[in-house]
Amino acid sequence: MEQSAFLSILILGFFGLLALILIYSSVLSYIENEKKAGLKLLGLTIPIIALGYFASFQNYELKLVVAISLSIITLIMTYLLFKKPIQSNVSEQDHPTRRFDEHDVIFARMRLKASTPDWEQYYSNHKYEEEQDNKARSLAGLLNQSSLYYNPLTYNSSNANFDIIEYLHKAINHPTAGTTSNFDKVTLTRYIKGWAKYLGVHSIGITELKDYHLYTVKGRGKEKGKPIVKNHKFAIAFTVEMDYTNVSASPASPTIFESTQKYLDCAIIALQFSTFLKNAGYDTRAHIDGDYELICPLVARDAGLGEIGRMGLLMTPDLGPRVRIAVVTTNASLLLDGYNAEPTMIEFCKYCKKCADCCPGKSIPHGDMIESNGMKRWKINSESCYQFWCVAGTDCGRCMSVCPFSHPNNLLHNVIRRLIRRSFIMARLAYIADDLLYDRKPKPKPIPNWMKPD
Ligand code: SF4
Ligand code: SF4
Repeated sequence: MEQSAFLSILILGFFGLLALILIYSSVLSYIENEKKAGLKLLGLTIPIIALGYFASFQNYELKLVVAISLSIITLIMTYLLFKKPIQSNVSEQDHPTRRFDEHDVIFARMRLKASTPDWEQYYSNHKYEEEQDNKARSLAGLLNQSSLYYNPLTYNSSNANFDIIEYLHKAINHPTAGTTSNFDKVTLTRYIKGWAKYLGVHSIGITELKDYHLYTVKGRGKEKGKPIVKNHKFAIAFTVEMDYTNVSASPASPTIFESTQKYLDCAIIALQFSTFLKNAGYDTRAHIDGDYELICPLVARDAGLGEIGRMGLLMTPDLGPRVRIAVVTTNASLLLDGYNAEPTMIEFCKYCKKCADCCPGKSIPHGDMIESNGMKRWKINSESCYQFWCVAGTDCGRCMSVCPFSHPNNLLHNVIRRLIRRSFIMARLAYIADDLLYDRKPKPKPIPNWMKPD
C-alpha cells in the first residue's frame, strides 16, 4: 500500500472513531434527559467530520506528522484506560483525634423538646447551636405541608419510609444465638459480599473498627445518653445507588422520596446481614438511619469505598456521592479491605467547587481544606444546610445532583470516571468538559410525571 493511502486510513480511523464516540454520547445525553448537552455534542460532530475528511483525503506536507500525533494520542488514551488508578503514597489516612458526641449532630439536637432537662442541659453551654436550631424550628420544617416543595404524594411516601425504618429499629436488638457457627473468614467474607451483590448493593468493603469511628455517647433514640463502647472488631460498610432521575430533580421532593427509599433499602440489607451473623452466633449490630453508633462516611472511607469530598459526603469512584451508606459491626472474623486512597478525586474537588457554587444554603466552603479535630477536610455548615432543608421541606441534595462524579452509571460516564482516576490531566479536561456540557449551575430537572399530584 502506498504511504499516503496508509496515512489517510490512519487519520480517517481516528476521526471516524471520535465522531462515533460523539454521536453515541449525544444519543446517550438525550436518553439521560440532558438535551442541551446532546445538542452540543451533536454540533461538535459536524466540524470533527469535516476536519477528518480534509485531514484524510487532502495531500499536505505535514500529513505524516498529523498521523503520528493522532496515533500517539490513541496509544496514550488506550494506556490510560488500562493502567492502574493513581495511588497516593500516604501510608495511613488521617482521622479525627477526638471522638464525636452524637448529641452535637443536628438531627439529635432537633429532637430536643423545649423546657425539658435535656434541652436545658444541652443548650446551657451550646449558645450558637441554640440560636441556629431555633432558627430552623421557626421555618416550615422537613416534610411539612407549608414547605417550598410540598407534594402530598412524595411527602407521604417519604413519611411511610421513615415509619417503616422506625419499625425496623426493633430488629437491631435481635438476640445473638448461644452457639457460634465458626465459619472461616474467607468463606464468610465471600458469602456476604456475594449476597450483597445479589441484593443490588453498589459497593461493599470491610475495615477494622476504630475508636474514632464511634460516637462517644448516643444522642437520640431510646438509648440516648448511653456511652458507646467499642465491642466489635470489624465493620462492613456498603453503599446503595440513588436513582439519577430523582436526584436530578433536587431540591424538589423526588430527592427525599429517593433518599428515604435508599435509607430503607440500606436498613433492610444491614439487618439481613446482622441477623444472619447473630443467628450464626456472632455479636453484631446494624447501624441504620436514625440509630447509628458510628459515623458511616468515615467507616466507608476506611473500608475502601471512596473519599470524603468537598460537600462532606462519601465520594465513591463510580457514582460519586450519589449513594446511601449503612454499616454492620461484628465480631465475626472477616477479610479486611482497608483504605483506598483516591488522590485524583480529592484533587478534582480542590478546583471543581461546583457543589459550593450551586448550594442554595451557601453551606459548602469554596476555600481549602482546614485542619479540624486532627483531620484535614472541607467542613460544611450543617446549620445553614439544615435550615435550607426546613425551607424546602426536603433534604435538598442539590450538591449531590450537580457533582460531576454523580452522572449515570453507563459506559460513557464510567470511561470518563476511569480516566479521571488515572490521570490528573484527564481530570482537568473532564472538569472543563462538565461545565461546558452541563453548565456551571445546572437547572434542576422536572419531577417525573407519575409523581405529580393532580
Ligand atoms: S461537585 Fe466538585 S467539588 Fe463538589 S464534591 Fe463533587 S467533585 Fe468535589
Ligand atoms: S444538601 Fe443542599 S443545602 Fe445542604 S450542602 Fe447540599 S446543596 Fe447545600
